[in-house]
Amino acid sequence: MKPEYRDKTVNMKGMVFKMKKAALLFAAISACLLLSIPAYGLESVSARDERLQTSGAQIRIPDDSGEPVITQGLRFVSTIQKSLYDSVQKPQSENDTGLGFGTVVFPTKLLDGDALRKDTVKNGLHAAVVPAVKLKGEPSETEAVFTACMTGFIPDAETYKTEYTVVSYATYMDGETEVTVYGEPYSTGIYEVALAAVNSGKESKEVTQYLFDNIVHVVDGHTAASPVKENEIAGTCKVEGSYDEVTYCTVCRKELSRIKKSSGFGDHRYVNGKCEVCGEAEATAEPTIAVENVTAKAGDSVDVHIEIRNNPGLFGAVLTFTYDSNLTLTAASAGDAFKELVMTEPGLFTSPCNFVWDGQKSPAESDGVILTLTFTVSGSAKSGDELSIGCRYLNCGRQF
Ligand SMILES: [Zn+2]
Ligand SMILES: [Zn+2]
Repeated sequence: MKPEYRDKTVNMKGMVFKMKKAALLFAAISACLLLSIPAYGLESVSARDERLQTSGAQIRIPDDSGEPVITQGLRFVSTIQKSLYDSVQKPQSENDTGLGFGTVVFPTKLLDGDALRKDTVKNGLHAAVVPAVKLKGEPSETEAVFTACMTGFIPDAETYKTEYTVVSYATYMDGETEVTVYGEPYSTGIYEVALAAVNSGKESKEVTQYLFDNIVHVVDGHTAASPVKENEIAGTCKVEGSYDEVTYCTVCRKELSRIKKSSGFGDHRYVNGKCEVCGEAEATAEPTIAVENVTAKAGDSVDVHIEIRNNPGLFGAVLTFTYDSNLTLTAASAGDAFKELVMTEPGLFTSPCNFVWDGQKSPAESDGVILTLTFTVSGSAKSGDELSIGCRYLNCGRQF
């Protein structure tokens, strides 16, 4: 990166500054100024002059017209007290780095803790000396304000993270001797200024988002929050439901992704046995005891499951089985559906025979296999014969 150093007040070309916003950003960074000063304790006291102060930095952002800013600018603002201002010669041109006053800029990292001076050279890089050819506004009774603006930044993370140290200077003749005094050094970068601005809470929503999108998140990226559901539309029996799965950045709240998802169809809404949405009749959930259909050959031994569905909750039951004369009941075993009840088998396995369940403390409420009956199919049964097994249920006088 090779930024160009220049005094914004000298060259206004393309530097449309939205001063109201710039002033706000400036206010935000002023707080950081106080924090960054104690890091520089290495300078000799004799060179320090309290009449020179660098008070902050500003970055350029687009104005309300939405005109894009091609290059980010970082502008440092300094003040010189009137007494010093009046006594120094004014710089004659942008290149007049001799007698006068202005700003010195250098990458902090390269400085490696050394004091920044007009003649600083590190790794072959000379400090940029920006004479204050023109003031920012008219001098007041107490001070004059001047600036140095860096432009030509490459809009990438490394550039935005780069810190610059600036120090204001004044060079004058003390008799025959040329003397240069310096203000407190100040150090910041584009990322730091933008972060201070967004954290200040003083910027508008638009400015804050611009700074996140174009500077802060170029450096640190968005942080995706857990996805949230939005625009939920509940499904019905006729229409599939849906919602948006949305991910926001936890830092700037920007929407990072939005995926439309199905939440499936909903249940029927039965009113008086009929769905008020689609008109379908409600299926009755009658308790049923069913005998399994099985296929067997003559002479086979076969298990037949007896099952209950839509169990209403039973404290007791009697099942009477009648079966074809070609079947011989040889064994019976209880299933899980009536496991809360005690089963009594018939004394003899002859058709018809009764299986009795007696209630204990809690009812049998499960659906599933009540009983497994094992039959032997007679050798005289013929292929295609249907050998029936009948089951009659008795419970509290209700039979089905
Ligand atoms: Zn973000
Ligand atoms: Zn329906």
